[in-house]
Amino acid sequence: MKRQLKKWKLVVATISMIMTIGFLIACQEKTTYYTVNDFESVPKTDVHLHIDTQNPIYMEFASKHNFRVISPNVDAGTSIDDQFSVSEITKKEWTDQYAFLGTFSVESFNDSNFADNTIDRIKQCLIAGASGIKIWKNIGMELKDTKGQFVMIDNPIFDPIFNYLEVNKIPVMGHLGEPLDCWLPLEEMINAENRRYYENHPQYHMYMHPESPSYDDQINARDNRLRNNPDLLFTGAHIASLEWSVDEVAKRLDEFPNMNIDLSARMTHIQYQSVDDYEKVKNFFIKYQDRILYGTDITINANQANPNEVLQRLQESWKSHWIYLVTDSTQHIKSMQQNVKGLKLPKEVIDKIYNNNADRFFESI
Ligand SMILES: [Zn+2]
Repeated sequence: MKRQLKKWKLVVATISMIMTIGFLIACQEKTTYYTVNDFESVPKTDVHLHIDTQNPIYMEFASKHNFRVISPNVDAGTSIDDQFSVSEITKKEWTDQYAFLGTFSVESFNDSNFADNTIDRIKQCLIAGASGIKIWKNIGMELKDTKGQFVMIDNPIFDPIFNYLEVNKIPVMGHLGEPLDCWLPLEEMINAENRRYYENHPQYHMYMHPESPSYDDQINARDNRLRNNPDLLFTGAHIASLEWSVDEVAKRLDEFPNMNIDLSARMTHIQYQSVDDYEKVKNFFIKYQDRILYGTDITINANQANPNEVLQRLQESWKSHWIYLVTDSTQHIKSMQQNVKGLKLPKEVIDKIYNNNADRFFESI
């Protein structure tokens, strides 16, 4: 009888110990990782969302989903002055939830006062509330000098401009170069979205323009610019056009301590890599958690034909990226025609990538 009682006591003790351990694991799970359901409540920032309209529904939508927005002006599409005035007004209305990056035109690059005029333009952008300056791939891919040669971003004519940006600690977002797919024939491209883009924009499909600078030329020019201006606060848009290899990105982040990257429009390239080598990609995010910024690069035009369609696209991207970065669930990525397991990054990494690393754009310069 006594022995049986002892046995029961042991069973009860063992069960309660297992329950306690289970409870502790569950608690830790809760405190260390976010879940799908935390999407709405966690503060987030989309650092690359072009809102080229004053229609308030887009900022209302972002705000409802707990997103701040950084809208980069860009030397393409809608005139840069129109983008600038939309941004200036939106900044006044949504001061804490919205930031914008001003830009400048390179139309007068060959004029002798180009650098001075550009610096004046940058000053105007800052007075209007800009949090930095965006530069675009037309430098390196379209712009030519008086001799008909392509002008790259390390061209000395840009020196006074970058020196000004560097000395005054004005953040710069650079979309320079293109994904490696751009230099491949359509059928060899890794990414279906890239294939669609270059099919529709053959002028930017560099495989069709062998006379233009190569992929390496673009990357080298950008790296040279950062070597010349080591204190420049630089964000390489679209994974710094090194979307195909986290190792290549890591090399640049190690060499240039003031460089960050945004993930916009290139998440599937990260996903291809994590399907191949899950731990490598996860470790990349953990190691460089202070240098990575979340963004989508969705563009909302002034006369958006179907606002609900763009809002839906935005929400789908936001949700799918959240599932990928926050959980270890497997989801089917349509454009990849593949199942992809999420990285399940710890809460503190998610908070940085999704929000805290973007704080600098909301502080006055
Ligand atoms: Zn963009």
